[in-house]
Amino acid sequence: MNKPQYDLHIHSNFSDGIPSVAQIVERASELRLKTIAITDHFWPSLGSQRGGLGTIEERRMQIAVLREDFPAMTILDGAEIDILSNGGFVPVAGGPDKFDLVIGSVHWLSGSEQWTSAMLKTLAMTHFDVLGHWDGYLTTYKHEEGVKVAEALAEAEVAIELSSRYEPVHTEFLEAARDAGCLFTLGSDSHSLDTIGKLDDQFKLAVALDLTLLNA
Ligand SMILES: [Zn+2]
Ligand SMILES: [Zn+2]
Repeated sequence: MNKPQYDLHIHSNFSDGIPSVAQIVERASELRLKTIAITDHFWPSLGSQRGGLGTIEERRMQIAVLREDFPAMTILDGAEIDILSNGGFVPVAGGPDKFDLVIGSVHWLSGSEQWTSAMLKTLAMTHFDVLGHWDGYLTTYKHEEGVKVAEALAEAEVAIELSSRYEPVHTEFLEAARDAGCLFTLGSDSHSLDTIGKLDDQFKLAVALDLTLLNA
């Protein structure tokens, strides 16, 4: 397996990232990335004061211009949306379906039982593409519950992110997800230019555990 030339989790200054969308695309071009997803949070998801259709459409227009300037690169108009502690998504203006790629993420500390309950409810009611930094806020992990979530993710065709900002701790969950048929993605969760595309360790983990990476 070759390392995929993508980074599917990048924040710009439309949320809590430092670089502009244009700076991100220029850096990704220097790194010869073939695909990037700009995945800002939009208020009321945590991590951004900004939301509303105007903000989302302004970023979409900037991405459209950059797609013309960098035709060799696929630039995905993405969003990272909070998963609620009682299940489901925090609202996003215009709805999640308007984005090319939606990352659902938990941004509250939880034990295995609450995480499992929120994940199973969310997967039953909302479609999304990628589960972001899946154990970044997990305080306890029970494998029998992890297996249930892994099976529900496979059924819903939600890929699981290998994050470089929140390195995966409970690798047995990744193996259960692999065995259930899940795909995996690489995402830096970059908030600054220097961390874009830094995914070597995550790729090594995928190889070591024989995880199938999404072919973006
Ligand atoms: Zn996040
Ligand atoms: Zn993020």
